Amino acid sequence: MSSTGVRPDETVDIAIVGAGAGGAYTAYRLMNAKPGESATLDTLRGNKAGLKVALFEESTRIGGRLWSYSDPSLPELPMELGGQGFSELQQNVYGLCTKELSSDLTVINCPAFSLGPQLQYQRRHRFPYRAYSPMPPNTGALVPLSPEQRAVLLRDYRAFVVQLCPAVPPLPEPLDQQSLSALVTWCTAAESAIEAIWDYYPNTVPYFLMGGEKFDDPFQLLLDVILSCSSDVNTAFENVSAEIQKNGATPAVFTQMSALQALLRVTTTPDGQTLDTHGFWNVFATRVSSEAYNMSGSASFASSSTGNWNLYDSSLALIWGTLMYMMGTPFYSIQQGYDQLPAIMLKRFQAAGGQVVPGQRVFEVGLDHSHGEPLVALTVGPADCGPGRRVVHAKYAVLALPRSAVERIHVGTSWKGNATFTSDVASVQPVRASKVFMVYPEPWWQQVPGMQIQGGYSTTDLPVRACYYMGSRADGRSLVLTSLNDEQADTFWAGYEKTPPPQDRSGPSPPPGLPKISKQEMTDQLQKQLIEMHGIEIPAPIAGPIYFNWDVEPFGGGWHNWRPGLKSWEVMPRIRRMSLDDGVSPRVFLCGEAWSNQQGWVEGALNTAEMVLESYFGLPRPGWVADTYDFGP
Ligand SMILES: Cc1cc2nc3c(=O)[nH]c(=O)nc-3n(C[C@H](O)[C@H](O)[C@H](O)COP(=O)(O)OP(=O)(O)OC[C@H]3O[C@@H](n4cnc5c(N)ncnc54)[C@H](O)[C@@H]3O)c2cc1C
Repeated sequence: MSSTGVRPDETVDIAIVGAGAGGAYTAYRLMNAKPGESATLDTLRGNKAGLKVALFEESTRIGGRLWSYSDPSLPELPMELGGQGFSELQQNVYGLCTKELSSDLTVINCPAFSLGPQLQYQRRHRFPYRAYSPMPPNTGALVPLSPEQRAVLLRDYRAFVVQLCPAVPPLPEPLDQQSLSALVTWCTAAESAIEAIWDYYPNTVPYFLMGGEKFDDPFQLLLDVILSCSSDVNTAFENVSAEIQKNGATPAVFTQMSALQALLRVTTTPDGQTLDTHGFWNVFATRVSSEAYNMSGSASFASSSTGNWNLYDSSLALIWGTLMYMMGTPFYSIQQGYDQLPAIMLKRFQAAGGQVVPGQRVFEVGLDHSHGEPLVALTVGPADCGPGRRVVHAKYAVLALPRSAVERIHVGTSWKGNATFTSDVASVQPVRASKVFMVYPEPWWQQVPGMQIQGGYSTTDLPVRACYYMGSRADGRSLVLTSLNDEQADTFWAGYEKTPPPQDRSGPSPPPGLPKISKQEMTDQLQKQLIEMHGIEIPAPIAGPIYFNWDVEPFGGGWHNWRPGLKSWEVMPRIRRMSLDDGVSPRVFLCGEAWSNQQGWVEGALNTAEMVLESYFGLPRPGWVADTYDFGP
């Protein structure tokens, strides 16, 4: 990354703060806007050759919470310490990577995420994920199949289910010549056999579930909280699911999603209150037994991905998540590493005349009225808090930052005193998250008996929580994301860090690079848990643990959740314009994943940036998204 610097006395047209996905996107879109596309940018250009846009980034690394770490032991497979990938339903990032920037980025399928859940190790029991819902296929599923297809389906099903429940009767033979009604009779008998043993069946799902909770996929149990609130929501969800399964991510899907979103805002829980008034897990706890509560959190890994956040926003996220993950829609990564998305955008930004100023932290943002028209004054200086601070003026500023970074910036008086802004900032809560990778000489997960694991991920109630089988190269050398940690497990692994986090949040951020860890102890603990979880011997790793924890400044967590009790769709447009000074038209804007309706996703960062660009700089909609796609409130 080259530093062109900005002279202390210089005034830029637009200052951008933060070189994560949101900041890089803002920079790219502004500098690549053509004359005549935006009256605001045309005015800013005036008689100059072009726009003067500078982006300040406190780190010497581009990407923020996208960081594709390359280890010499396996350089072919980048270790995504932050964001891993995206779905076609996320039109902005998908269009950017597959259309707009496709000459620089190679989009690849990511089987670790596309193939879904594999093994479960819960309460010392090891079983395949599909054992949660072992019921036979229903009549509807059998009807469209040919006799041969039915035979394959039922043989495969019985082979699986007989391990869980030996009492399931033998199939009528020859299977491909049986009438449909004979097969349905067999399915009913199989169902009764399973039901009879299910109260607590120690070889399979080790939870004492109540009647209606049995046989449900844990993720489905979570989703049912929302779908059971309203038959309209249920129908809308079924329609959009059917459209995706039949035709993929068509423009109609986005129209249907917008309608579903509007419906969710007015949907009420049985107490008559709208969803936004509740926390997700509070409502879930009133609906299910404590066993189902624990099972769903542990098995679906949802305690981290949803937290106890606003029921409206978590409903939307669960619906998106189901459509993205559970319905076989592919999940994509970038072969060169996901952090190349912001890197390429900034390369093009610089090629168009933009300035990237790395290693420079913005400490303060205020308004300066001493120049006639009010200017944004940014106090900028070395990221290590050393001497050399200066004030850079800008006509406009866009902050593309997470909550913690915004709170660290000591802001001008009018901002500090703005109670609405202060409470809006606190309307999202950071979620702790860390990742640990290991490199192995072979793809040992393929040896798990009876599982045939080719990719996907497994979850457990041990502190490793989620283990993703990331892939192998031709000689067998393989990458495992040994642990994607949630709120609880995060502190367990943080215990192996050698350097305690700085106590003074306003002081220097930790230096760039991986934190120092007690390597041998962490390896031993990871190996112990992985062996217990998978029930096989696992070879010693060639490299690792490669560990990063996003709780550090300036991130304060891996991603954010909207708090219960507020309407996020009202906060989002308000916080974007920040209201630094109510007396003038807005000059300082805020975007990023934190205050978006796709929290935990790059898409949230891009879409909030897009809305700033369209609303306040008059940029036209980008050509790489469907016309029906909604960037958010
Ligand atoms: C473990 C993990 C897994 C994830 N998985 C996925 C996934 O699979 N797919 C997906 O799409 N998303 C995923 N995400 C989320 C995704 O990484 C983020 O949503 C996205 O990268 C956030 O971008 P942003 O621009 O909002 O903020 P950030 O990336 O946080 O960027 C903010 C930037 O601002 C800089 N900065 C902060 N303060 C200052 C200051 N005062 N002055 C100058 N610079 C400053 C920071 O150094 C940083 O570079 C994941 C995140 C994590 C942590």
